[in-house]
Amino acid sequence: MINSGLHEQQAVCSVRNVHHHYGEHQALRGVDLDIRPGRVFALLGPNGSGKTTLFRLLSTLLPIQQGQILIGGFDSARQPLSVREQIGIVFQAPSLDMKLTVDENIACQGALYGIHGTELRQRRDALLEQLDLLDRRGDRCQVLSGGLKRRVELAKGMLHHPRLLLLDEPSTGLDPSARLKLWDAIQEMAGQGIAVLLTTHLLEEADKADEIAIMSQGKLIAEGAPSDLRAEMGEGVITIVANDPARAESILQKALGLTPQRLHHQIRLKVESPEKMVPVLVETLGDEVQSINLGRPSLEDVFITRTGEAFNT
Ligand code: ADP
Repeated sequence: MINSGLHEQQAVCSVRNVHHHYGEHQALRGVDLDIRPGRVFALLGPNGSGKTTLFRLLSTLLPIQQGQILIGGFDSARQPLSVREQIGIVFQAPSLDMKLTVDENIACQGALYGIHGTELRQRRDALLEQLDLLDRRGDRCQVLSGGLKRRVELAKGMLHHPRLLLLDEPSTGLDPSARLKLWDAIQEMAGQGIAVLLTTHLLEEADKADEIAIMSQGKLIAEGAPSDLRAEMGEGVITIVANDPARAESILQKALGLTPQRLHHQIRLKVESPEKMVPVLVETLGDEVQSINLGRPSLEDVFITRTGEAFNT
């Protein structure tokens, strides 16, 4: 057998049948996923879908209740200290000491991991250069913009050369240009062979990842490359707003044999030849129609099709 391609590469992180509950409330209901080296993996889901719970389990901040998480071959339940050496974590809440400089913050992180002297200087210089922070290294963190602070957090998370980088909602609170710059840095890390997992509730952010897992109510409801997930939706998605959605739905079923999806007042159809279908719909529905909208399939369409619900963040 020819050993080629990323699928042959062993996962840095594998999650198997993970469940988690808070008292009576079931937050995760059997999650499985694999994260491979050199890939940016986005965990996308609306608020309350279970992303933070999974993130905290991966970060070893919550004990595993059921299932297994292996990171770098170590079992998080039995070897949490070894797992922590394998992971770099950037939380949403800032972890910087704002009174210290960029260099000092990174040195403090080094002290936690036993990285000192020449090794610290070399690693820190390389990261500061990579993250475009060299000219800010002497600044106190309190004077930095949100985007620069997030990049210092990233430098801290990467200092001990983790194999898996975990980022919790990394773009939250950043302006568009800071987001782009952070994203470039994340992709560069992945280019060096690091596996990156990030959580997000932003559809357009997830679209930039190599792989996505979409979560809803504690389960993964779709997984794959963004382009593959969209391709499953056909060529286009038609959204119809009708005067009486139930009547329009029934006409479409009876006259055209279609099985549309209802979402509140909208009727949605995934179609292979949208340009041919729109005139047919106009003809068939006549005055029932208020508007017909044709769009290229998005990740939101994937979510709606799989769950029957809107992606409310
Ligand atoms: P997300 O990060 O996608 O918003 P969470 O993992 O934070 O999702 O939450 C998943 C579900 O678990 C939600 O219904 C949330 O209300 C619930 N939950 C989260 N943390 C706790 C907690 N500490 N105690 C009780 N319920 C919680």
